[in-house]
Amino acid sequence: MVSGVSLFSPDYASARARFRAAALRAGAAHDALPLAARGPHDESLTIDLAWLGTRRPRRVMLHISGVHGVEAFAGSATQLALLAAPPPLPADGALILTHVLNPYGMAWQRRANEHNVDLNRNFHLGHSTWTGTPPLYRRLDALLNPTSPPARDAFALRLGAAGLRHGVRAVRQAIAHGQHRYPRGLFYGGAELQPGPRLFIDWLRAQLPGAASLFAIDLHTGLGPHAGNTLIVEPGIGSAPLAELSRALRQPLEDSSTAPAAYAVRGSLGAALPGILPGAGVEFVLQEIGTCPALRVIHALREENRWHHYGDGHLDHSAKRCLLEALCPAAPAWRDAAVMQGTNLVYRAASWLFRDEFS
Ligand SMILES: [Zn+2]
Repeated sequence: MVSGVSLFSPDYASARARFRAAALRAGAAHDALPLAARGPHDESLTIDLAWLGTRRPRRVMLHISGVHGVEAFAGSATQLALLAAPPPLPADGALILTHVLNPYGMAWQRRANEHNVDLNRNFHLGHSTWTGTPPLYRRLDALLNPTSPPARDAFALRLGAAGLRHGVRAVRQAIAHGQHRYPRGLFYGGAELQPGPRLFIDWLRAQLPGAASLFAIDLHTGLGPHAGNTLIVEPGIGSAPLAELSRALRQPLEDSSTAPAAYAVRGSLGAALPGILPGAGVEFVLQEIGTCPALRVIHALREENRWHHYGDGHLDHSAKRCLLEALCPAAPAWRDAAVMQGTNLVYRAASWLFRDEFS
């Protein structure tokens, strides 16, 4: 098996080129959904999809990388490993790899998309609306989103003081919940469904009308202990009882509303999937490969956001490098571990989804 490290690409353009070449080598069908936004070298941006197995699947394993742009480096590497050694597929099964749902964020080394929207706060369907902001976020806005370029301003100390005053858990929940009030702020959920999610939803509906079971894995990096593997499920999602799923994945599952490491989120991709494919039984797991302490991640996100809005935003800047290191550490051991955790979860989920019920 190739080392995980060698599967990491230095930028979006090379990651996409490698993904397309690997899909071709694997005999996968390939699709690309074009976005209007451009990369830093004026390159085009696409959400790429590689499809292995039958074109009319009843059971679908769906893997998604790069909902949070810059977090896609580990997801892209994992998908290259999966194309080189895919899990066995039954006659009614397909494996679909979604390469970088937020290509703008990967290309520009941002977590948000071309409209500063956090796509995992943007998947509102049906009756949901793009409004609402936790009251505590409003109080933290000036601290989280200064209207100036990056600078030392005792952020850690001030956030610590806010934690003492309001409770660390309440502060964490208020920040990460998603907000619809500050378009230049962190964790902004947007005012409408974003182009990337819209294209992806339409594609899923058009391509998978006959799917009876869908197992989706959404790969992220950042949350949890360094190189650790945290699996988070959406409350109320999934046709399999939690214990059964946990056994199949040989891993404890955390519920985003109760897990100490996590927080409840509005407008997540996982919560939207059953509404996107109402005919399918949906299982969904958000996989987090941990990187560094949460305070360092939020600080790096904050400084990069200042650089994007109030600096000139180019890639050759410490704010960009710090964010990349906070969400995709350069350490070879971390990169190897990330690809191993990423591929293992797919193999386990696939062997459960594609189990022979009649044996
Ligand atoms: Zn993420």
